[in-house]
Amino acid sequence: MLNLNNNDDEVSMPLGRDYPELRDAVQRICAQFPGSYWRALEDDSSYPTEFIEALTKAGFLASLIPEEYGGSGLPIRAAAVILEEINASGCVASQGHAQMYIMGTLLRHGSDAQKNHYLPKIASGELRLQAFGVTEPTSGSDTTSLKTMAIKQGDHYVVSGQKVWTSRALHSDLMLLLARTTPLGEVVKKTDGLSVFIVDLKESLGRGVEIRPIDAMINHGATEVFFDQLRVPAENLIGQEGKGFKYILDGMNAERILVGTEAVGDGRWCLNHAVNYANNRTVFGRSIGKNQGVQFPLARAHIELEVADTMCRKAAALFDAKQECGEAANIAKLVASEAAFKAADVAMQTLGGYSFAKEYELERKWRESRLYQIAPISTNMILAYIAQHVLGLERSY
Ligand SMILES: Cc1cc2nc3c(=O)[nH]c(=O)nc-3n(C[C@H](O)[C@H](O)[C@H](O)COP(=O)(O)OP(=O)(O)OC[C@H]3O[C@@H](n4cnc5c(N)ncnc54)[C@H](O)[C@@H]3O)c2cc1C
Repeated sequence: MLNLNNNDDEVSMPLGRDYPELRDAVQRICAQFPGSYWRALEDDSSYPTEFIEALTKAGFLASLIPEEYGGSGLPIRAAAVILEEINASGCVASQGHAQMYIMGTLLRHGSDAQKNHYLPKIASGELRLQAFGVTEPTSGSDTTSLKTMAIKQGDHYVVSGQKVWTSRALHSDLMLLLARTTPLGEVVKKTDGLSVFIVDLKESLGRGVEIRPIDAMINHGATEVFFDQLRVPAENLIGQEGKGFKYILDGMNAERILVGTEAVGDGRWCLNHAVNYANNRTVFGRSIGKNQGVQFPLARAHIELEVADTMCRKAAALFDAKQECGEAANIAKLVASEAAFKAADVAMQTLGGYSFAKEYELERKWRESRLYQIAPISTNMILAYIAQHVLGLERSY
């Protein structure tokens, strides 16, 4: 255990292979879903239904849901370890990860009635909450300028607008939607006037919601979602009208920690793959791994993954101790996103021509591990956060 502070409210973080039983249990499930399973899904962009069901049945996707609602109420570090281990086993954590952090908005800001209604069903797998509608075509990273409107009419809100890159919308029962309830021109602060809703996607399809898949570089269930006068019951508003941006921000640290640790898992899979290959591939009468030109980039990838892992652990420790963790969570996500892709890229170089063969699985991990620098938030936005909120530099946008 490493202590982060020297005072009374000490925060400590586990070093080494923490949560070993959890890791072993995740690995046992992942062993049933080899590379051929993921390759076949890519062929027709389909969803890993059996994999997600296995994770749900084992309770892993409900790890952050409190026990009173049927989850296991584990710390965020435990959830992060689950995602890391999924990716380090060659499977794809991002197909189920959103449920872990989206659920937090409902848990922290939802009414008792909403929590009692949704959380037990999410925990049991009866309902999937896997879709998160924030990004729009014209606003991108500038979230507060999003244009989807939700206008209150009696006991309903009427929603019109469009989201883009909404992952898993076709495979989720529910969507957490961020929409404007007061036009931008009528609010004092641009962060005001945004609200969060739970949308019943299955119920709404063809009745004000249309979902179109995006043909994307990775199999992530990416879609465009169109809202045309969709009627959402007023009881589906989470928390107070107009405070939704704050609610979404509240969930960002958890998202950064989980996604950062998941990226470390991808990096570890790529590195292990490359080291095994380097030790076994013989060219010029010796293993290619004997060449410093091959081993040094692998050593550097390992170092960068260790640094990223340490930052992820620190951020999780602060989060679990309910201490300020914005800086650590942002740093963790940035270094992990870069370390993961570097490991994947070095692994490609190590495997040479074979890295392009789909059966070696590496090209898929290379594509998948590129995403972390762009989604759920791009690197520049993290740098802007550090510049402004940590260093005290002038806001740049
Ligand atoms: C596979 C995939 C899955 C996704 N899943 C979801 C999802 O489920 N839900 C959802 O809501 N969104 C999702 N996204 C969207 C993702 O969060 C956005 O793509 C991301 O936040 C960046 O927004 P953008 O693509 O509009 O880029 P833009 O905002 O247009 O930015 C483009 C580039 O310009 C840079 N940039 C922009 N403004 C500035 C500035 N002021 N200073 C410096 N640099 C700047 C950005 O950092 C970026 O590099 C997903 C995206 C992908 C690719």
